[in-house]
Amino acid sequence: MISGIHRPAKLVIDQQAIFDNVQQAVKRLPADTVLWAVVKADGYGHGMLQVAQAAAAAGATGFCVALLDEALGLRQAGFDQPILVLGVTPANQVTLAAQQRISLAAPDAAWLQTAAATLQNSTAPLSVHLAFDTGMGRIGVQTVAEVQAAMALLRQAPFVFDGVFTHFSTADEADTTHFNQQVQQFKTLLAAVGQRPRYVHVANSATSLWHQACASNVVRFGVAMYGLNPSGDALPLPYPLKPALRIESELTFVKQVPAGAAISYGATYHAAQPEWIGTIPVGYADGWQRRLQGFHVLINGQACEIVGRICMDQLMVRLPEKLPAGTKVTLVGTDGDTAISLQDVASFAHTIHYEIACGLTMRLPRVYLPYQA
Ligand SMILES: *Cc1c(COP(=O)(O)O)cnc(C)c1O
Repeated sequence: MISGIHRPAKLVIDQQAIFDNVQQAVKRLPADTVLWAVVKADGYGHGMLQVAQAAAAAGATGFCVALLDEALGLRQAGFDQPILVLGVTPANQVTLAAQQRISLAAPDAAWLQTAAATLQNSTAPLSVHLAFDTGMGRIGVQTVAEVQAAMALLRQAPFVFDGVFTHFSTADEADTTHFNQQVQQFKTLLAAVGQRPRYVHVANSATSLWHQACASNVVRFGVAMYGLNPSGDALPLPYPLKPALRIESELTFVKQVPAGAAISYGATYHAAQPEWIGTIPVGYADGWQRRLQGFHVLINGQACEIVGRICMDQLMVRLPEKLPAGTKVTLVGTDGDTAISLQDVASFAHTIHYEIACGLTMRLPRVYLPYQA
């Protein structure tokens, strides 16, 4: 995808915010626990390599990604730390992981069997973290018998049994009933492993913020690293996080329209009176979803409503007065005394900030503010 560098619209990523968020989290960890930065999906839209760099400088000692390709991207860029692929890698494609010292999640014994066959002629062993499904219902072994079947394979070549992990589905909620059930099931399955592997991990951002992690020694730190509250606004943060992302643009065109004038596709908006309308060169092809019609942007510290349908590449706002083309527009970030957070955008769009951040396409150029260690 072509990045629009000759268009006044950009995503500004503050690497210092990422650095500070990681440093704060590392400081609060018990001495035997490490933080691995979750940089999947291009660092939640923030840029995988730039996030990894700031996180490592702030004390992250490893990385988690979702796909083998993301792990290979980190290796290719020179990151030498432990990397864990959290998703299921096709078991007939594990040789690359072994060669590159990339750890893979194993979802069950059948996967291990196929992986072992794939690795028959591999000179390098494969580091594996066995996934426990304790109530997320996504991947992993669910019963003691399944743990034992997996362990029988894992204790042998071509595997290095490096870890076990689980993932909580409600760590960001006030009601801890399901969370506690998952903790109990984790303990049951862990007991069936016998000798513990080097890494035992359960905590995503939410778990690290709001729960005492149970006997684990890695935190998989994702969304909080980007300065976002994992719960949206359901639970208060135990310490402040710094949002790392802003979206900035400019008015590219300004006009006055008469009362009754229609704006954008479908003519869904009509000016109530003579109005000043500004055009902004951002649309749903940038990840600014059509359902954000009626939401607002910030101009000169004031909220301006998005009027009419959001187009693929442009959108229109109602201005409080005549403003020159070139006037700065903030879609996410602070402007004077006002601010729009990714959570505000997500709330309006009836989704979560994770989805808004990941949905920002590569057409919006990423501009980085460097960190200082
Ligand atoms: C994405 C992911 C994380 C990170 O979650 P956050 O809520 O962003 O902290 C941790 N563990 C697993 C298994 C994941 O898939």
